[in-house]
Amino acid sequence: MVVDKIKDIREIIKSQKSQNKKIGLVPTMGYLHEGHLSLIKKAKENSDFVCASIFVNPIQFGPNEDYDKYPRDIERDLKLLEENGCDLVFTPSVEEMYPNERLTTITVRKITDKLCGAYRPGHFDGVCTVVAKLFNIFTPDIAVFGQKDAQQVAVIKKMVEDLNIPVEIIASPIVRDKDGLALSSRNTYLTHDERRAALILNKSLKEAEKLLAAGERSAEKILDAVRKTLENEPQCKVQYVSCVHPDTLDDLNTIGDKALIAIACYIGNTRLIDNLLWSVDK
Ligand code: AMP
Repeated sequence: MVVDKIKDIREIIKSQKSQNKKIGLVPTMGYLHEGHLSLIKKAKENSDFVCASIFVNPIQFGPNEDYDKYPRDIERDLKLLEENGCDLVFTPSVEEMYPNERLTTITVRKITDKLCGAYRPGHFDGVCTVVAKLFNIFTPDIAVFGQKDAQQVAVIKKMVEDLNIPVEIIASPIVRDKDGLALSSRNTYLTHDERRAALILNKSLKEAEKLLAAGERSAEKILDAVRKTLENEPQCKVQYVSCVHPDTLDDLNTIGDKALIAIACYIGNTRLIDNLLWSVDK
């Protein structure tokens, strides 16, 4: 079922809830790939009525970012969602989501000042505001987000905690291509040669993983190794390489039981992110 009006979503959800169905939500910006579909699968495992939204949210893009050229293919997306057992797809217009002048913004402070937030001012305000709206529209029991956007997971979890939103946030692992490149709708911007160069992101994280497995616990040493690997690829321009706690996003000096090694790089004009979520028991 494909619906583009908020009032129709509310009616459908009300009817599903009256049948005691647990509602699952997967927010996306479309141009779907196996990463998105893994979230649908996870939502199916954890709820009875799986909803996805496809909305390229203008307020989370900076003025010099790729809102206009962000890839879109709604027909293909709808087919994939249907094939993967998604029960309801919400495809609102910008006017449906932002009909009047918007005077309210959700800001999660502090943890949005670092990693991607430091380079994308206002981005997480845009994300939190649209996700809060989607949570109010769907009132889902669970919502699934990809670990690919690790900071987004931490920020949304904090928003839900701080605002007492009654939803369980489930994080789902990064899905990669066979050669290790993390799937992203933005990979479509890469030329053949840039795509090859982009493999350096995952390679650098593999270096970090190797050091961690060998018992290295100095964040500085691990970050040095990651940076050195990235510098081996002339087409790669590093924006940041960080080693933080996955929940608080505080920088780590010595790695304890959990760490998030997060990187953002430009390959040509395309900004790519990737990360390694490491924990002792892994
Ligand atoms: P987007 O359409 O890029 O806004 O992504 C929608 C959701 O899919 C977000 O929760 C992303 O973290 C998640 N996602 C994107 N790429 C991947 C991937 N390669 N593996 C797992 N989840 C992903």
